[in-house]
Amino acid sequence: MAKIYYDADADLANLADKTVVFLGYFFGNQGAAQAQNLRDSGIPNEKILIANREDGYAADAKAKGFNVISDFGKAAEVTDILFLLIPDQVQPRVFNKEFAPNLKDTAAIVVASGYNVFFKLLDFKPTQDVVMVAPRMIGSSVRSLYEKGKGFPCFVSVEQDGTGRALPLALALSRAIGATKTGAIESSVREETAMDLFAEQALWPNIIKLFTEAYSVLKEAGCSDEALVYEMWMSKEPAEIFEAASDEGFIKQLKHHSSVSQYGQLNGALKLDGTAIRAHFKDILYNQVLSGKFQREFSQIEDDLEKEGDANPLNQLYSKSEETELGQGEKRVRARLGLP
Ligand code: NDP
Repeated sequence: MAKIYYDADADLANLADKTVVFLGYFFGNQGAAQAQNLRDSGIPNEKILIANREDGYAADAKAKGFNVISDFGKAAEVTDILFLLIPDQVQPRVFNKEFAPNLKDTAAIVVASGYNVFFKLLDFKPTQDVVMVAPRMIGSSVRSLYEKGKGFPCFVSVEQDGTGRALPLALALSRAIGATKTGAIESSVREETAMDLFAEQALWPNIIKLFTEAYSVLKEAGCSDEALVYEMWMSKEPAEIFEAASDEGFIKQLKHHSSVSQYGQLNGALKLDGTAIRAHFKDILYNQVLSGKFQREFSQIEDDLEKEGDANPLNQLYSKSEETELGQGEKRVRARLGLP
């Protein structure tokens, strides 16, 4: 059983006199939310520094009274605790080149996602602490839940205990951003990366494929694009089902459906043979995610993600996906309804 840490397990005194630097302050995302929560938890403003390129986000941070610096090398020199809150794909380049060389031997690095630590893409000194404090929420919710006095789900782990004080520090930081209010779950970068990439590369691709195939089968049976688009997702029924699953239970939420629906869903799912899908899922998890195959593949194309048009591999994938019957049908319906 994973440990769950609450406010009482965390002592903010572990942050006394430490200079906390946020690398990345994107309004609405993690940087801005966590920095504001930390300050509102009583960490003095003069001990918080926002490291961001000079732009609108830096201006927003200044307007909120934060001290802002755009020279990352200088920021590194004064850092005791670094929140690494820039996109995962740019972290190795920015951290390793601009931050790591000037960082103190005893600094603590805090990541909000396991990816770069699990795949060993960041250059840490063995004397430094490396911890994960990973909210399971978008930044705007991290902030709004804190403002309402509520907590949010979060994973916490110690990945390198250079100072021998990494756990109390990680817990204090979790408390300061508001994560231990409802309980921060003990995890690891391996677990976080495995679950995150598995969901993205196994679970959701299968759900996308299931919807695409279901759409084509029902279209062939004479159902209209208009009826299908509304029936399958535009009515927001799937969103409501997942909300009820979260509030009441994954299976128990079925009780809101008609008896015909409950019988059809439960009986249908129990009759399905999961052997092939389980083997496929294991293959993705072990041979694509945990083996590092995907990470190596992604590192070959990540620079192309900045490109325009067809030179950008993501744009190519969008074009292909929109060519499916589902993609074309939805396009027609949305155009007819005057929707973007
Ligand atoms: P973003 O990935 O949107 O990062 C935005 C910030 O990164 C901005 O401050 C931006 O600064 C800065 N940035 C972007 N490119 C560069 C660069 N090349 N050099 C310097 N700064 C740069 O923030 P997120 O909050 O989405 O993600 C931060 C971390 O949090 C990631 O590890 C992510 O996995 C994790 N996370 C994200 C969640 C989410 O819901 N988004 C949920 C939980 C964890 P500028 O103003 O200069 O553009």
